Amino acid sequence: MPDDPIQRVLVFAAHPDDCDVGCGASAAKWAAQGKDVFLVVCTQGNKGSSDSAMTEDRLVAMRDKEQRAAADCMGIKDVVILPNEDGGLSDSYEVRGQFVKMVRKFRPDRVVTHNPFIWQHRDHRFTGQNTLDAVYPYARDRLHFPEHLAEGLEPHKVREVYLWTGFNNAKPEFVDIEEDVTDYLEAKIAALSCHVSQFGQPEETRKRWMDRFGERIKETGKFVELFKRVEYQV
Ligand SMILES: [Zn+2]
Repeated sequence: MPDDPIQRVLVFAAHPDDCDVGCGASAAKWAAQGKDVFLVVCTQGNKGSSDSAMTEDRLVAMRDKEQRAAADCMGIKDVVILPNEDGGLSDSYEVRGQFVKMVRKFRPDRVVTHNPFIWQHRDHRFTGQNTLDAVYPYARDRLHFPEHLAEGLEPHKVREVYLWTGFNNAKPEFVDIEEDVTDYLEAKIAALSCHVSQFGQPEETRKRWMDRFGERIKETGKFVELFKRVEYQV
């Protein structure tokens, strides 16, 4: 759609795999519509293993590779993994500056992230919170983080933020948008199957997620990803 004001989409996810779980089918759908979709992973995921032989360095390298392969399955054009500790995200000046920089670098019309107002992992809450703060007002106003100007990064206004909430059912107060992604379930499953360090071998992952999603598709005849939408003046 040439007059669609949403041409660039930026996803902020706390850990490698969160984008795929939260909005993987929607990311694939938007990419197939011709939008440019980008992903920022906000921690390295270096604590996400119960394997006693695993080291953090090896895990970081594995998860980096897994997330980039998964991004290819979803049609995502670029992936940045920020050098933050898994479990270490906070609401600080430094972290907020990282998020603002990513908004100014990728210049998205739509930003997609965790809903920070739902009980969940600390990194998920702080990713949602820092993203909302980065979009408004920090990335918009040139006197915030003026050092970005010297790097050629201009202030930027985002049109809307989507906060992901789940698939097929969620509390109504957390849902404004039901993205019908039945045709993109395959891309989501393919992306999830890349995360062997988290979900095991691809065949097992496929079966587990298909069982989980299949139930819901049987009930409604479709697969949807759900979002709360926040709109901004541009
Ligand atoms: Zn996570």
